[in-house]
Amino acid sequence: MENKTLSGMSLSELQNVAYKLGMPQYAAKQIAAWLYTKQIFSISEMTNISKTFRDKLETEYELGRKHPIKKMVSKDGTVKYLFPTQNGHFIETVYIPTADRATLCVSSQVGCKMGCQFCMTGRQGFQAQLTAADILNQIYALPEFQKVTNIVFMGQGEPLDNIDNVLRACEILTAPYGLAWSPKRITVSTVGNLKGLKRFLNECQCNLAVSLHFPTSEQRLEFMPAEKAWPIAKVIEQLKEYEFCNGEHQWHEGAKQRRLSFEYIIFAGLNDSHRHRNAIVELLSGLDCRVNLIPFHSIPDSPFKAAPEQRMKEIRDYLTYKGVFSTLRASRGEDIMAACGLLTTKEKQNKTK
Ligand code: SF4
Repeated sequence: MENKTLSGMSLSELQNVAYKLGMPQYAAKQIAAWLYTKQIFSISEMTNISKTFRDKLETEYELGRKHPIKKMVSKDGTVKYLFPTQNGHFIETVYIPTADRATLCVSSQVGCKMGCQFCMTGRQGFQAQLTAADILNQIYALPEFQKVTNIVFMGQGEPLDNIDNVLRACEILTAPYGLAWSPKRITVSTVGNLKGLKRFLNECQCNLAVSLHFPTSEQRLEFMPAEKAWPIAKVIEQLKEYEFCNGEHQWHEGAKQRRLSFEYIIFAGLNDSHRHRNAIVELLSGLDCRVNLIPFHSIPDSPFKAAPEQRMKEIRDYLTYKGVFSTLRASRGEDIMAACGLLTTKEKQNKTK
């Protein structure tokens, strides 16, 4: 079926649209500029396109922009939005401003198939793939759109399980006809999805963040079922075929290599022992990467507990001392993260009532 949503189309697809409607050749670039560098919510706002062609566009296509329908604001300034998707689902997007940057955490799927036990989205199960328009909508319809400096694909879903649409969104965000961002400002996370990983590494220059959380296969199998299909040892093997930089000293906007990081949520008594620290060092030896240690945000009815801050600092210092550069992420928006995945769950329940 022909795609009738303009947002998410590449320049060549927009050229086909313009051709089909009898518009001048340069119109595709004008449409792309409206779609990907400005914040508009209707085709009628494309004011440098003639009224006749705007009307034709409006009759045949839709823009693909939807305002968020709910928001939750944390006392530290973090904002969580609930966006509707093109197909009637709901997804969460989190805006995290700090003194020197503003990071947007976007979702890539409605729900998730990966079933990580410590994750609210994992508990919801999988509902739908997001289209490229849905992914881009979280950026372009965000009230703080102009302030965003970095985008991370770390919201709901496993991005590499929706590889076509994630790659398309990354292309539009980095292409000269799109937002023209440096790929170093975008980070895509994965639980270790080997199926999508090779394509991502070959076709995209954005940074990669692997959700590690447990350094041994035994524990990953227990808490992260994806380990069964994609063992972490195989993921590391694959990563070693590519070049990265860890960002400790040499990373800057103009750096040649993309950045590789490993995300590690620290759970008290589960993955914070000395044995775990050494297992991380051993697993990552020979890779130019960094480890981001993340405090656990508790979720309802969960047996998982956050580790004390002192222990998290000790892990950070130990890893860095052993040559694995590590940072401890500040806890942000904990009061609204406590309900992570709840906005979508509630909205789904409202819809089915
Ligand atoms: S942690 Fe990520 S990959 Fe795992 S279930 Fe949650 S959304 Fe999916």
